[in-house]
Amino acid sequence: MSKLPYLSIIIPCFNEEEVLPQTFERVMAALQGDWHKGAEVIFINDGSRDTTLSILKGYASSHKEVKVLNFSRNFGHQAAVSAGIHYCNGDLAIIIDADLQDPPELFKDMVAMHVEKGANVVYGVRRERKGETWFKKLTAKWFYRILNRMSDVSLDVDTGDFRLIDRKVINAFKGLGEKNKYIRGLIAWMGFKQVPIYYDRDPRVAGETKYPLSKMLKLASIAMFYFSKKPLKMSITLGVFSLLIGVILTIYVLVIQFSGVATTPGWASTLITIIFFGGVQLVTIGVTGEYIGNILDEVKGRPQYIVEEELGF
Ligand code: UDP
Ligand code: MG
Repeated sequence: MSKLPYLSIIIPCFNEEEVLPQTFERVMAALQGDWHKGAEVIFINDGSRDTTLSILKGYASSHKEVKVLNFSRNFGHQAAVSAGIHYCNGDLAIIIDADLQDPPELFKDMVAMHVEKGANVVYGVRRERKGETWFKKLTAKWFYRILNRMSDVSLDVDTGDFRLIDRKVINAFKGLGEKNKYIRGLIAWMGFKQVPIYYDRDPRVAGETKYPLSKMLKLASIAMFYFSKKPLKMSITLGVFSLLIGVILTIYVLVIQFSGVATTPGWASTLITIIFFGGVQLVTIGVTGEYIGNILDEVKGRPQYIVEEELGF
């Protein structure tokens, strides 16, 4: 190898005190060897309420390659990863969860795939998800299915944010204007050469999931109503469809009216029409509302996250 890459490892952490010591050990062990020019390990403390921050500060003071970004509050996983990408100095960056569900031992293979195949992105695809509840597996499966239908780029089913990106992708990412980010979708959207790397996803080593249903729904909503314009188009289709029904009903009513057939009061058809069109209108207004909310978010121009403290940079 002629020119070895300098690596950045990006690890978002939210209340991860239970798993951090093991994560740190395995990440540092995985970075041993002379297959890279050096590495920085960037931990983002996403407003943890446990001792995560003091553990991270300990690592930063004893290891010069460790850097810490401390958020002023919890801004969410996607914001934490974005911050890591914004701050990293590597030729290559690898994004990995703090809970060891994605194996750090894969770093070397990912870099090798970048070098050998000339890939700008090496994204992890989960072959198996061990130790996750059936509910999580089922919701995740449908989440990706629906998302692929709804958004403008299609992702491999079972990809998360565990991936390697090179400097070109990092720079392109830094140029993205939007504040609410759906990172895996954005990176897929960018193009470049993207290759998958397959692995079995392990159970979380310690602690509990930091992605409750509410956060999953928020991510899904960003992917759908922010990243994609399909729901807007679908509400137009729905509107046209209901308009057609409306026209047919009008013709029917007129024919009845003028044909002289004795008409019953017709409260049933009236009610059905009101309920049906009321529903259609609420759905489409709701969809439009989501987009307006997202526009509002962008227009306000607030940052995606606030860094309270930078250590080691
Ligand atoms: N995370 C974060 N902020 C949050 C929620 C999660 O930084 O608000 C981090 C968390 O510490 C972990 C990663 O995002 O490193 C993925 O979270 P988790 O493993 O709990 O999600 P799951 O694997 O259950 O979907
Ligand atoms: Mg996890």
